Amino acid sequence: MTDSKTLGERAVKAIDAKRADLIKLSLSLHGEPEIGYQEHKSAAKLTDFLEANGFAVQRKYKDVETAYRGDASGKANGPTVAILTEYDALPDIGHACGHNLIAMMGTGAAIGVRAVLDELPGRLAAIGTPAEEGGGGKVALVRAGGFADVDVAMMCHPSSRTLAGRTSLASNRVDIEFYGKAAHAAAQPDKGINALDGVIQTFNNVNAMRQQLRPEARIHGIITSGGSAANIIPEYAMAKFSVRALDRRYQQEVLKRFIACAEGAAAATGTKLKVTVHENSGYENMVPSQPLADRWAAHMRALGQAVQPTQDDERMGSTDMGNVSQILPAIHPYIGIAADGTPGHSTAFRDAAATPEAHENALFAAKALALVAIDALTDSALLKRARADFEDRRTQGVVKGKA
Ligand SMILES: [Zn+2]
Ligand SMILES: [Zn+2]
Repeated sequence: MTDSKTLGERAVKAIDAKRADLIKLSLSLHGEPEIGYQEHKSAAKLTDFLEANGFAVQRKYKDVETAYRGDASGKANGPTVAILTEYDALPDIGHACGHNLIAMMGTGAAIGVRAVLDELPGRLAAIGTPAEEGGGGKVALVRAGGFADVDVAMMCHPSSRTLAGRTSLASNRVDIEFYGKAAHAAAQPDKGINALDGVIQTFNNVNAMRQQLRPEARIHGIITSGGSAANIIPEYAMAKFSVRALDRRYQQEVLKRFIACAEGAAAATGTKLKVTVHENSGYENMVPSQPLADRWAAHMRALGQAVQPTQDDERMGSTDMGNVSQILPAIHPYIGIAADGTPGHSTAFRDAAATPEAHENALFAAKALALVAIDALTDSALLKRARADFEDRRTQGVVKGKA
């Protein structure tokens, strides 16, 4: 019987053996950025890579066009571990969230585990989850039962610091559209109804409301349509908002109050309002599995990598991995790839995501992921602890009740 330490060493070696290919894969994704649900080339590169490395690949997993799943089976029945990838970029600024590295880490980790899977019980699923930046690929996959057979799930995100995990904000994307009536803005303004005023009044209402919100609540938006000429009263205006809070329950309350701000603006301006809350944009708050996150940190340290403590006042965004963490034990650690303080979604972060240092660090993170996956397949006590921790959070209300 081979022990998990030897298996781990072999998995690490298998990742090292592919390092040049993995870095090439990451740089190729970085060089050809595609936004959410349009990641056709990226998904093709990743699925081809998995197939060439012995995975049975399903493209368009669960009918989500740019999702995929690569499967590999162990020597006997056992748990199913999912290692997730993301590969969508941001509009205009490319891979400024470094998802090329997420794809590389997930694929590398899966290849490492696959190398020793013949000696393990259980199964490995390398799941490609598109459109994390607002489109909610994981939300769609959760809804379609894409994780129904999965026991634990894991991925790793690049950052300016290395952390075993942190929570994230629950969020929704909301579009508001105002309909008015066009008229000459100088000659007959009284004959018009100004749709842009509806949008501007919404921003003013939201700004007035901020004082009465909990500090972690976030409401932020942009105007995507505000008229076509200064001498025409705008008959149509649109804004896109993101509404977030620390937990789902409060986030839903903030969302209701945000919609009331828009309704108030419509009443004040005499415009008609259409509100669209995007179906796949309902991101749950992330609840990292502590036993699995601790393992990842321990493996990173054993690989000679520092892991920083998570602070109480961590700044956070939202991730659709939150939705996965609400249905099964999951981890979403962070690997430092840029100078501390480099903001995400910046061109500086995008440039950092293509450096040799970033790829060196990401390879360590991939190895630690592979080692956690091997632990989950071999150490039933760890799996039990992860499950108990998950159920415990459910009783605390941090994980939602069963649907
Ligand atoms: Zn991201
Ligand atoms: Zn992002």
